[in-house]
Amino acid sequence: MNSGDNELTTITTSSASPKSLVIAIDGPAGAGKSTVARRVADALGYLYIDTGAMYRAATWLVLAQNVNTQDLESIVKLVAAASIELKQSLDGGPQTVLVNGKDVSGEIRTQQISRLVSPISAIPGVRQHLVVAQQQLAAAGAVVMDGRDIGTVVLPKADLKIFLTASAEIRAGRRLKDLEAAGERPDEAVLLHEIKERDRLDSTRAVAPLRQAQDAIPLNTDNLTIDDVVSRILNLCKRQA
Ligand code: C5P
Repeated sequence: MNSGDNELTTITTSSASPKSLVIAIDGPAGAGKSTVARRVADALGYLYIDTGAMYRAATWLVLAQNVNTQDLESIVKLVAAASIELKQSLDGGPQTVLVNGKDVSGEIRTQQISRLVSPISAIPGVRQHLVVAQQQLAAAGAVVMDGRDIGTVVLPKADLKIFLTASAEIRAGRRLKDLEAAGERPDEAVLLHEIKERDRLDSTRAVAPLRQAQDAIPLNTDNLTIDDVVSRILNLCKRQA
């Protein structure tokens, strides 16, 4: 799919169930959104769109091109001209993220990117560009999209909105496991501090801050397994069908 110079494509394997719902899943960092959203999308045969990966890809590009992070105009131009692609693997494996054709799926998950992504995603021109692309990707329905502003800004008319939360300590613990699995050795106390800082920046920015939409259903995942969360959301979907 093309949106101006910026190309975003997503490939999905299975066909959509009869009523094509639009499902928005928002929440703070590490609440389990991506895992849950992808499992829900797989179960329904829907498209899954990880909007955090798009902001991470934009941040990767800024670093790769050595653009001064204070030079907002150059950053917006860079992101507008870039091709950011999300590709779902055919076997249910992890999604691939391509920036101008380069596979950055691993590189966008590093702590370095996590530290810079909030300031980059707070730039209004970056958001404008990516939000339009996200809305185009969701236009055909049968989609699960996760992020921070999906229920409030990107897809305000979504059929089902979920706001996933968990305590900062639990979220930092989950992030630790993910990073360790990726070969990093982060300090848990530093991770906890960074997660809280990212929440603060994401919730207090001027444009599209992280917040629960009025019609979203809150789900605290502190004491729930991924399976529990997925089945609760699938039950909520049945009520919409
Ligand atoms: O979901 P994930 O933690 O990968 O998102 C990385 C960052 O991208 C968030 O901390 C936030 O700054 C930004 N983001 C955003 N809006 C979204 C999705 C992510 O601003 N819809």
